[in-house]
Amino acid sequence: MEDTLSIIKPDGVRKKIVGKILKRFEDNGFEIINPRYINLSKEEASEFYNIHKGKPFFDDLIIFMTSGPCLPFIIRGENAILRVRELMGSTDPDEAAPETIRADFADSIDSNVIHGSDSEQSAKREIRFFFG
Ligand code: AMP
Repeated sequence: MEDTLSIIKPDGVRKKIVGKILKRFEDNGFEIINPRYINLSKEEASEFYNIHKGKPFFDDLIIFMTSGPCLPFIIRGENAILRVRELMGSTDPDEAAPETIRADFADSIDSNVIHGSDSEQSAKREIRFFFG
């Protein structure tokens, strides 16, 4: 059993696909823990994405992540970190495999519907970030 952190980003909430996304994880045997809507402040979003500070897309990423409510939650299941990333598809929806969440729902690399922790270390840090 493994825990990972996912966020349905503000575009996913605006598109009203929260239920569809959570269902995909549940249909794949995962447990959804503690989903709750929050509005990230600029400071919180900058802290969450501090690894990307200084990159060309950083400022737009912060504007996007603070553009409306998002839904962080924990996903629990076997090999969750890797399998959740497989179900999400590549960061750039144009490169995402068919039938992945990003291939089906995301508009662009900037507006890509969902976040998932990329490693065990990130999962620990990101779960702590949202859930203490
Ligand atoms: P992560 O890869 O999860 O650390 O998140 C970085 C986020 O920044 C991605 O999910 C995208 O939403 C956004 N982003 C925008 N432009 C880029 C880019 N050129 N490369 C990587 N991520 C990008």
